Amino acid sequence: MSDKPSRNEDEYFVKQSAELVKVRRQEAERQARDASRRAHFMKCPKCGADLVTEDYHGIQVDRCPECTGMWLDAGEAEDLLRREDAGMIDIMRSIMKGVGSR
Ligand SMILES: [Zn+2]
Repeated sequence: MSDKPSRNEDEYFVKQSAELVKVRRQEAERQARDASRRAHFMKCPKCGADLVTEDYHGIQVDRCPECTGMWLDAGEAEDLLRREDAGMIDIMRSIMKGVGSR
């Protein structure tokens, strides 16, 4: 009697287990990444305080009430640049007044 079928069976289960370990590891890494993103969402990258979204002439600015840092999303920065000729200075002045009043 040959041991070949048994060896094939062992190889099958070894491969099956390795694949299962790989899938579970990837899932654990994905969950850890998601948890990290949730923990940092709308937190100031400088001091960790909760960011506040404020509207300045239709542009959303995420501002930190603790260290007064300001962040623009990519679309918001582009929107601000598009208004270069139509009052960008006024918008920046409004934003700075908002920061200065805190
Ligand atoms: Zn801050």
